[in-house]
Amino acid sequence: MQQPTAGQVKEVNDTIDEALGLEKRAQDEADKGHFDRAKRLLGRAARLKQKAIRLADRYYGIRREPASKHLKGEPTYDPRSSDAGGTQPAGGGKGRVTLGPGAFVFGGKASASWLASTKAHEILGHVLQIQGNGWVPGNDDEQELEAYQQEYDNRGTTGLTDDEVQEIRKRMQGHYRRLPPALKPRWRRSHPFVDKCAAFIYRNRETGKLVYCTNDSGDATPDYVKIGAGDFPCDQTGYCSIR
Ligand SMILES: [Zn+2]
Repeated sequence: MQQPTAGQVKEVNDTIDEALGLEKRAQDEADKGHFDRAKRLLGRAARLKQKAIRLADRYYGIRREPASKHLKGEPTYDPRSSDAGGTQPAGGGKGRVTLGPGAFVFGGKASASWLASTKAHEILGHVLQIQGNGWVPGNDDEQELEAYQQEYDNRGTTGLTDDEVQEIRKRMQGHYRRLPPALKPRWRRSHPFVDKCAAFIYRNRETGKLVYCTNDSGDATPDYVKIGAGDFPCDQTGYCSIR
């Protein structure tokens, strides 16, 4: 993969933003009962998202990756998908990739880096796992770990934000915990954070006591201030209901 210029990142983000704006207008029209207008707006939004996919292919150098040779057609936008991405065997050792609405936004905002990273997950990860007409036999969680490893190891190139990296680490930790014991050591060696738990650190304003929360309660609450994030022994962390 290759690092895009700031201008290219902006172009992808602007394209996604334009699509999100049209989707919002479509919702307004649908609320007023103008379904034909809503449908037309959604069609335009989908075409813009397809354009964002194409731009990301080019600007992040995904097309030039050897894995792309095993891709059947261009990854397509699927507005109905509840997953950020999906890869289906398409025959002849090739895979067909679809990207859902979740591939274009992170934390409610347009994210070119999240889009590029999701493509790395599907194309450099899952497409390569396809052989013949099916999946390589193996453990589902390990296959997800391999796909997320592509996202993690390419984080500098795709320009993932700290929050996006944290989310990927958290997902890798979840899959690691479900691995059969025999498959765990090699992941611990290559990515030592996998046997920890990702958490946000909050400090109590009055007592100074620190809590390690697996959920994000924002930068500040009446009683607590967020002072950082990291990976900690899982027994130190937990879900926090703080105020
Ligand atoms: Zn996956």
